[in-house]
Amino acid sequence: MMKISLIDAQTAIINYKDTFKSRSARHILESLRGMKASAIASNDKSKLREVRGWICLLQAQEHYFSAFEKCLQREYYKAWCDLEVSITFIERLPSSLDVKILECIDFLKKKISKLQTLYPYKMFGSPEYIFKRKCTICDSYVNYRKKCEHLPGSIYDGKLCKYAMTDFEFLAMALVENPVQKYSVPFAKDEATGKHFDHYDYKLLDYLFSGIRNPFEHWDYEIQSKAVPTSKFKDLKDDVSCPCISDKKYGECCKGKEVIVIQNLEFVISEFAARRIKSLGGKWRVKPPARNIGREFHIAIFHTTHEDLS
Ligand SMILES: [Zn+2]
Ligand SMILES: [Zn+2]
Repeated sequence: MMKISLIDAQTAIINYKDTFKSRSARHILESLRGMKASAIASNDKSKLREVRGWICLLQAQEHYFSAFEKCLQREYYKAWCDLEVSITFIERLPSSLDVKILECIDFLKKKISKLQTLYPYKMFGSPEYIFKRKCTICDSYVNYRKKCEHLPGSIYDGKLCKYAMTDFEFLAMALVENPVQKYSVPFAKDEATGKHFDHYDYKLLDYLFSGIRNPFEHWDYEIQSKAVPTSKFKDLKDDVSCPCISDKKYGECCKGKEVIVIQNLEFVISEFAARRIKSLGGKWRVKPPARNIGREFHIAIFHTTHEDLS
Protein backbone atom coordinates (compact mmCIF):
# COMPACT_ATOMS: atom_id res chain seq x y z
CA MET A 1 0.00 0.00 0.00
CA MET A 2 1.19 3.54 -0.78
CA LYS A 3 2.54 5.46 2.18
CA ILE A 4 0.66 8.60 3.16
CA SER A 5 2.70 11.76 3.59
CA LEU A 6 2.73 13.58 6.91
CA ILE A 7 0.85 16.54 5.36
CA ASP A 8 -1.92 14.25 4.05
CA ALA A 9 -2.16 12.48 7.38
CA GLN A 10 -2.43 15.83 9.20
CA THR A 11 -5.12 17.03 6.78
CA ALA A 12 -7.18 13.87 7.29
CA ILE A 13 -6.89 14.19 11.07
CA ILE A 14 -7.64 17.92 11.30
CA ASN A 15 -10.61 17.67 8.92
CA TYR A 16 -12.00 14.63 10.70
CA LYS A 17 -15.60 15.79 10.36
CA ASP A 18 -15.39 15.53 6.55
CA THR A 19 -12.93 12.67 6.30
CA PHE A 20 -13.92 10.28 9.07
CA LYS A 21 -15.99 8.04 6.80
CA SER A 22 -13.66 8.03 3.83
CA ARG A 23 -10.27 8.05 5.51
CA SER A 24 -8.53 4.78 6.23
CA ALA A 25 -7.40 5.25 9.80
CA ARG A 26 -5.38 2.06 9.72
CA HIS A 27 -3.52 3.19 6.62
CA ILE A 28 -2.78 6.60 8.14
CA LEU A 29 -1.68 5.00 11.40
CA GLU A 30 0.68 2.60 9.63
CA SER A 31 2.24 5.47 7.69
CA LEU A 32 2.67 7.52 10.88
CA ARG A 33 4.24 4.54 12.67
CA GLY A 34 6.67 4.24 9.76
CA MET A 35 7.60 7.92 10.20
CA LYS A 36 8.02 7.38 13.93
CA ALA A 37 10.40 4.46 13.32
CA SER A 38 12.52 6.48 10.91
CA ALA A 39 12.58 9.47 13.30
CA ILE A 40 13.96 7.14 15.99
CA ALA A 41 16.45 5.58 13.58
CA SER A 42 17.77 8.99 12.55
CA ASN A 43 17.88 10.44 16.09
CA ASP A 44 15.36 13.12 15.12
CA LYS A 45 13.77 14.08 18.45
CA SER A 46 11.55 16.90 17.24
CA LYS A 47 10.18 14.76 14.39
CA LEU A 48 9.50 11.96 16.84
CA ARG A 49 7.61 14.31 19.13
CA GLU A 50 5.56 15.69 16.23
CA VAL A 51 4.65 12.29 14.74
CA ARG A 52 3.85 10.87 18.15
CA GLY A 53 1.39 13.73 18.71
CA TRP A 54 -0.44 12.96 15.45
CA ILE A 55 -0.60 9.27 16.31
CA CYS A 56 -2.16 10.07 19.70
CA LEU A 57 -4.71 12.44 18.18
CA LEU A 58 -5.71 9.96 15.47
CA GLN A 59 -6.07 7.19 18.05
CA ALA A 60 -8.12 9.42 20.34
CA GLN A 61 -10.48 10.28 17.45
CA GLU A 62 -10.84 6.68 16.28
CA HIS A 63 -11.64 5.43 19.77
CA TYR A 64 -14.28 8.11 20.17
CA PHE A 65 -15.89 7.14 16.81
CA SER A 66 -15.73 3.50 17.83
CA ALA A 67 -17.38 4.30 21.19
CA PHE A 68 -20.15 6.13 19.36
CA GLU A 69 -20.74 3.14 17.05
CA LYS A 70 -20.90 0.84 20.08
CA CYS A 71 -23.42 3.10 21.81
CA LEU A 72 -25.61 2.88 18.71
CA GLN A 73 -25.36 -0.92 19.06
CA ARG A 74 -26.19 -0.56 22.81
CA GLU A 75 -22.82 -2.00 23.75
CA TYR A 76 -22.35 0.55 26.47
CA TYR A 77 -19.62 -1.03 28.54
CA LYS A 78 -17.44 -1.64 25.47
CA ALA A 79 -18.11 1.95 24.43
CA TRP A 80 -17.09 3.12 27.90
CA CYS A 81 -13.73 1.39 27.53
CA ASP A 82 -13.19 3.06 24.15
CA LEU A 83 -13.90 6.44 25.73
CA GLU A 84 -11.30 5.69 28.40
CA VAL A 85 -8.73 4.76 25.75
CA SER A 86 -9.51 7.97 23.91
CA ILE A 87 -8.86 10.00 27.08
CA THR A 88 -5.59 8.16 27.62
CA PHE A 89 -4.39 9.19 24.16
CA ILE A 90 -5.48 12.80 24.73
CA GLU A 91 -3.48 12.86 27.96
CA ARG A 92 -0.40 11.61 26.13
CA LEU A 93 -0.44 14.50 23.67
CA PRO A 94 2.43 16.98 24.00
CA SER A 95 1.53 20.18 25.83
CA SER A 96 2.22 22.96 23.32
CA LEU A 97 0.05 22.43 20.29
CA ASP A 98 -1.27 24.09 17.18
CA VAL A 99 -4.68 25.79 17.54
CA LYS A 100 -6.30 23.38 15.04
CA ILE A 101 -5.17 20.42 17.08
CA LEU A 102 -6.50 22.08 20.23
CA GLU A 103 -9.89 22.44 18.54
CA CYS A 104 -9.92 18.71 17.73
CA ILE A 105 -9.04 17.88 21.33
CA ASP A 106 -11.62 20.28 22.71
CA PHE A 107 -14.34 18.61 20.64
CA LEU A 108 -13.36 15.15 21.89
CA LYS A 109 -13.03 16.18 25.53
CA LYS A 110 -16.46 17.82 25.61
CA LYS A 111 -18.23 14.93 23.89
CA ILE A 112 -16.54 12.31 26.03
CA SER A 113 -17.20 13.95 29.37
CA LYS A 114 -20.85 14.61 28.45
CA LEU A 115 -21.31 10.99 27.43
CA GLN A 116 -19.60 9.68 30.54
CA THR A 117 -21.90 11.61 32.87
CA LEU A 118 -24.88 9.78 31.32
CA TYR A 119 -23.43 6.46 32.44
CA PRO A 120 -24.78 4.82 35.61
CA TYR A 121 -21.33 3.72 36.82
CA LYS A 122 -20.34 5.16 40.19
CA MET A 123 -17.75 2.83 41.67
CA PHE A 124 -14.76 1.34 39.93
CA GLY A 125 -12.25 -1.33 40.60
CA SER A 126 -8.77 0.00 41.21
CA PRO A 127 -6.11 -2.68 40.93
CA GLU A 128 -3.19 -2.69 43.34
CA TYR A 129 -0.06 -4.34 42.07
CA ILE A 130 3.67 -4.27 42.32
CA PHE A 131 6.02 -4.30 39.37
CA LYS A 132 9.59 -3.53 38.47
CA ARG A 133 10.70 -1.38 35.58
CA LYS A 134 13.69 -1.80 33.32
CA CYS A 135 15.37 0.72 31.00
CA THR A 136 15.16 -0.55 27.40
CA ILE A 137 18.57 0.94 26.58
CA CYS A 138 20.85 -0.37 29.37
CA ASP A 139 18.53 -3.11 30.71
CA SER A 140 19.02 -2.02 34.34
CA TYR A 141 16.20 -1.81 36.89
CA VAL A 142 14.94 1.70 37.64
CA ASN A 143 12.63 3.10 40.33
CA TYR A 144 11.76 6.49 41.85
CA ARG A 145 15.07 6.73 43.66
CA LYS A 146 17.39 4.80 41.41
CA LYS A 147 17.58 5.93 37.79
CA CYS A 148 20.04 5.22 34.98
CA GLU A 149 21.48 7.92 32.72
CA HIS A 150 18.79 7.44 30.03
CA LEU A 151 15.59 9.43 29.77
CA PRO A 152 12.33 7.75 28.71
CA GLY A 153 11.17 9.11 25.36
CA SER A 154 14.69 10.06 24.29
CA ILE A 155 16.61 8.42 21.46
CA TYR A 156 20.01 6.78 21.97
CA ASP A 157 21.82 5.58 18.83
CA GLY A 158 18.56 5.03 16.97
CA LYS A 159 16.83 3.29 19.87
CA LEU A 160 13.95 4.71 21.86
CA CYS A 161 14.28 4.67 25.64
CA LYS A 162 11.29 3.34 27.57
CA TYR A 163 10.83 2.08 31.09
CA ALA A 164 9.35 -1.36 30.45
CA MET A 165 7.32 -3.11 33.14
CA THR A 166 8.62 -6.46 34.36
CA ASP A 167 7.87 -8.80 37.29
CA PHE A 168 4.23 -7.73 37.40
CA GLU A 169 2.35 -9.03 40.45
CA PHE A 170 -1.32 -8.42 41.09
CA LEU A 171 -2.13 -7.80 44.77
CA ALA A 172 -5.76 -6.80 45.20
CA MET A 173 -8.67 -4.91 43.76
CA ALA A 174 -10.16 -1.98 45.67
CA LEU A 175 -13.51 -0.34 44.95
CA VAL A 176 -13.18 3.42 44.63
CA GLU A 177 -15.10 6.38 43.24
CA ASN A 178 -12.35 8.14 41.34
CA PRO A 179 -9.61 5.85 40.08
CA VAL A 180 -6.98 7.03 37.62
CA GLN A 181 -8.51 4.86 34.91
CA LYS A 182 -12.11 3.79 34.96
CA TYR A 183 -12.00 0.54 32.97
CA SER A 184 -12.83 -1.76 35.86
CA VAL A 185 -16.56 -1.53 36.21
CA PRO A 186 -17.96 -4.01 38.74
CA PHE A 187 -20.70 -6.22 37.31
CA ALA A 188 -23.22 -8.35 39.15
CA LYS A 189 -22.67 -12.09 39.39
CA ASP A 190 -25.33 -14.69 38.78
CA GLU A 191 -25.17 -17.01 41.81
CA ALA A 192 -26.48 -19.99 39.85
CA THR A 193 -24.14 -19.87 36.86
CA GLY A 194 -21.26 -17.90 38.39
CA LYS A 195 -21.28 -15.66 35.33
CA HIS A 196 -21.09 -11.88 35.46
CA PHE A 197 -23.73 -9.84 33.75
CA ASP A 198 -24.35 -6.18 33.06
CA HIS A 199 -26.98 -5.15 35.62
CA TYR A 200 -26.75 -1.40 34.99
CA ASP A 201 -29.59 0.81 33.93
CA TYR A 202 -28.65 2.69 30.74
CA LYS A 203 -31.92 4.61 30.40
CA LEU A 204 -30.34 7.95 29.62
CA LEU A 205 -28.02 6.54 26.97
CA ASP A 206 -30.84 4.51 25.44
CA TYR A 207 -32.87 7.66 25.23
CA LEU A 208 -30.14 9.72 23.60
CA PHE A 209 -29.02 7.03 21.17
CA SER A 210 -32.50 6.34 19.93
CA GLY A 211 -32.39 9.88 18.54
CA ILE A 212 -28.87 10.80 17.46
CA ARG A 213 -27.13 9.09 14.59
CA ASN A 214 -23.71 10.56 13.92
CA PRO A 215 -20.76 11.40 16.18
CA PHE A 216 -20.84 15.12 15.30
CA GLU A 217 -24.51 15.73 15.84
CA HIS A 218 -25.23 18.46 18.33
CA TRP A 219 -26.62 17.31 21.65
CA ASP A 220 -26.43 18.52 25.17
CA TYR A 221 -28.37 18.37 28.37
CA GLU A 222 -29.34 20.60 31.26
CA ILE A 223 -29.81 19.45 34.81
CA GLN A 224 -32.09 21.40 37.10
CA SER A 225 -33.52 20.77 40.53
CA LYS A 226 -37.27 20.48 40.49
CA ALA A 227 -39.74 20.09 43.35
CA VAL A 228 -42.30 17.39 42.64
CA PRO A 229 -45.34 16.74 44.90
CA THR A 230 -44.78 13.54 46.86
CA SER A 231 -48.21 12.34 45.73
CA LYS A 232 -46.61 11.62 42.35
CA PHE A 233 -44.57 8.90 44.02
CA LYS A 234 -47.39 7.30 45.98
CA ASP A 235 -46.81 3.90 44.35
CA LEU A 236 -43.17 3.84 45.41
CA LYS A 237 -42.21 1.09 47.89
CA ASP A 238 -40.37 2.01 51.10
CA ASP A 239 -37.29 -0.04 50.33
CA VAL A 240 -36.42 1.44 46.92
CA SER A 241 -33.81 4.18 46.63
CA CYS A 242 -35.27 7.63 47.15
CA PRO A 243 -35.92 9.68 43.99
CA CYS A 244 -33.96 12.58 45.52
CA ILE A 245 -30.84 10.42 44.89
CA SER A 246 -29.71 10.71 48.52
CA ASP A 247 -28.65 7.03 48.43
CA LYS A 248 -31.16 6.41 51.26
CA LYS A 249 -34.28 4.26 51.04
CA TYR A 250 -37.45 6.13 50.17
CA GLY A 251 -39.13 5.07 53.45
CA GLU A 252 -36.26 6.57 55.49
CA CYS A 253 -35.88 9.70 53.41
CA CYS A 254 -38.51 11.77 51.60
CA LYS A 255 -41.64 9.71 52.32
CA GLY A 256 -44.08 11.92 54.24
CA LYS A 257 -42.64 15.19 52.93
CA GLU A 258 -44.85 17.45 50.83
CA VAL A 259 -42.47 17.68 47.90
CA ILE A 260 -39.43 15.77 46.74
CA VAL A 261 -36.62 17.69 45.07
CA ILE A 262 -35.43 15.68 42.10
CA GLN A 263 -32.76 16.33 39.51
CA ASN A 264 -34.50 16.89 36.22
CA LEU A 265 -32.39 16.15 33.18
CA GLU A 266 -33.44 17.64 29.87
CA PHE A 267 -31.76 16.67 26.64
CA VAL A 268 -31.17 19.41 24.12
CA ILE A 269 -31.08 17.81 20.70
CA SER A 270 -32.03 18.62 17.12
CA GLU A 271 -35.65 18.46 16.03
CA PHE A 272 -34.62 15.74 13.63
CA ALA A 273 -33.34 13.55 16.45
CA ALA A 274 -36.32 14.51 18.57
CA ARG A 275 -38.74 13.23 15.94
CA ARG A 276 -36.99 9.86 15.93
CA ILE A 277 -37.41 9.55 19.67
CA LYS A 278 -41.00 10.73 19.44
CA SER A 279 -41.73 7.94 17.00
CA LEU A 280 -40.45 5.60 19.72
CA GLY A 281 -42.83 7.10 22.24
CA GLY A 282 -40.79 9.95 23.77
CA LYS A 283 -42.21 13.31 24.81
CA TRP A 284 -40.84 16.48 23.36
CA ARG A 285 -41.51 20.10 22.78
CA VAL A 286 -39.71 22.49 20.48
CA LYS A 287 -38.14 25.65 21.81
CA PRO A 288 -37.38 28.64 19.62
CA PRO A 289 -34.01 28.22 17.86
CA ALA A 290 -31.09 29.17 20.06
CA ARG A 291 -29.40 32.42 19.14
CA ASN A 292 -25.97 31.17 18.13
CA ILE A 293 -27.15 28.14 16.22
CA GLY A 294 -28.14 28.17 12.56
CA ARG A 295 -31.62 29.30 11.48
CA GLU A 296 -33.00 25.91 10.51
CA PHE A 297 -31.88 24.35 13.73
CA HIS A 298 -34.52 23.72 16.35
CA ILE A 299 -33.86 22.71 19.87
CA ALA A 300 -36.03 20.03 21.32
CA ILE A 301 -36.15 19.74 25.05
CA PHE A 302 -36.79 16.39 26.64
CA HIS A 303 -38.07 15.85 30.10
CA THR A 304 -36.44 12.75 31.33
CA THR A 305 -37.61 12.57 34.90
CA HIS A 306 -38.47 9.26 36.48
CA GLU A 307 -41.94 9.27 34.95
CA ASP A 308 -40.83 9.88 31.38
CA LEU A 309 -38.14 7.29 31.38
CA SER A 310 -39.71 4.42 33.19
ZN1 LIG B 1 19.32 3.13 30.99
ZN1 LIG C 1 -35.10 11.58 49.63
